[in-house]
Amino acid sequence: MLVVMFGGPFVKIQGNPLLMLDVVERKVSVLGVIFWPQDNLIFALGFLLFLTGIAVFTAAFGRLWCGWTCPQTVMMEMVFRKIEYFIEGDSTAQRQLARDPWTAEKIRKKALKHFIFLGLSFIIGNTLLAYIIGIDALKGIITDNPRHHLVGLAFMGIFTLVFYGIFARFREQACTFICPYGRFQSTLLDENTIVVAYDYKRGEKRQRFRRSENFRQRSEGGAGDCIDCFKCVTVCPTGIDIRNGTQMECVNCTACIDACDDVMTRIGRPRGLIRFASLNGIEKGERLRVTPRIIGYCVILALLGIALLTLLLTRSEVDTTLLRAPGALFEQTAEGKISNLYLLKLTNKTHYEKPVELKLEDIEGSLTILGGQLTLPAEKQTSASVLIEIPADKLSSSATPVVVGVYSSGKKIERIKTTFIGPRK
Ligand code: SF4
Ligand code: SF4
Repeated sequence: MLVVMFGGPFVKIQGNPLLMLDVVERKVSVLGVIFWPQDNLIFALGFLLFLTGIAVFTAAFGRLWCGWTCPQTVMMEMVFRKIEYFIEGDSTAQRQLARDPWTAEKIRKKALKHFIFLGLSFIIGNTLLAYIIGIDALKGIITDNPRHHLVGLAFMGIFTLVFYGIFARFREQACTFICPYGRFQSTLLDENTIVVAYDYKRGEKRQRFRRSENFRQRSEGGAGDCIDCFKCVTVCPTGIDIRNGTQMECVNCTACIDACDDVMTRIGRPRGLIRFASLNGIEKGERLRVTPRIIGYCVILALLGIALLTLLLTRSEVDTTLLRAPGALFEQTAEGKISNLYLLKLTNKTHYEKPVELKLEDIEGSLTILGGQLTLPAEKQTSASVLIEIPADKLSSSATPVVVGVYSSGKKIERIKTTFIGPRK
């Protein structure tokens, strides 16, 4: 995942980024295909599909995303915490170091850690910037005269400080206080959802382990397998006690599972006192079931997927808007024709240049693109003024609907409807 995250901006497909969310130029690149604001229906359906996908996934597997694939967790667990452990030692050593007075050794460790954290935050901030403006624009900011890129450099600084704040101080509080997914996931879970769970039937009643007694004697005395060692609480990055049941703060990182399995192995009891299980799994021994709720979500997911695929396959290559020039009225020519002025906006969504031509359809008259023939540059928006002239006797009313065909290399690629204003009839 780290390779994908950091390598993503360098990968291009047909000259376009694998993924880029360019809010400045208002375009998005997904798998090398550029999407424009005109593709709003595709965006809306894609977003709905994403939300439904999360709902299905969460209903079945709980907060698995948070613990295993969320970039925040991956960076925290695989990079920042590893560095912290390497410099300051394990959690016990870290707590001791925090209590120790400020000696030269403590200053050296803290300074080294925060220097590395700041450097990494700078790299992460730049990577995020590359996903927003593209790797080429980022290279421009880095190599060009800084005075020409003050806004870009300011964002570099802001992103660096934000990531430093998150990874050095805020950490899992981002998951519990800021992340909206963490907030609404509790509404998606039910008793069949797989979550990190403590097997209270096996673990209770908790009782400290005494070397003088064996487990048969313990269970005869009413004690369960939990020896109340608090290892699962100590390792929890969000500071909860999973033995109190599923909680919103749990990010499914499974650190408590590993800690408890280690304890169980050492005391000679079966592993899995804390494990991935559903409430029904623990209470009734049920395996993961496909519930009507999950089936319902899947049906919606499939329908949305089909709709999105249809939209993507039938997506037009050129998007055209033709609007009457603001404030312009009709004009009457000496030959008895009425003319209207329009503003034409064209978006070429393809990777290649496209010559276009406009024709007035279903009505007698002429259409002229002011400034000559139009050739649309690849993946760019172009505008031009258009003059339409129609003989006065061909107009049906003071606002006659007209149709304009958009052609490229002789092939009709779009049909646009507009209104032609004329004298009152
Ligand atoms: S690590 Fe296991 S045995 Fe220790 S307190 Fe947690 S659940 Fe009980
Ligand atoms: S340690 Fe256990 S309880 Fe804490 S967040 Fe990770 S999975 Fe959840």
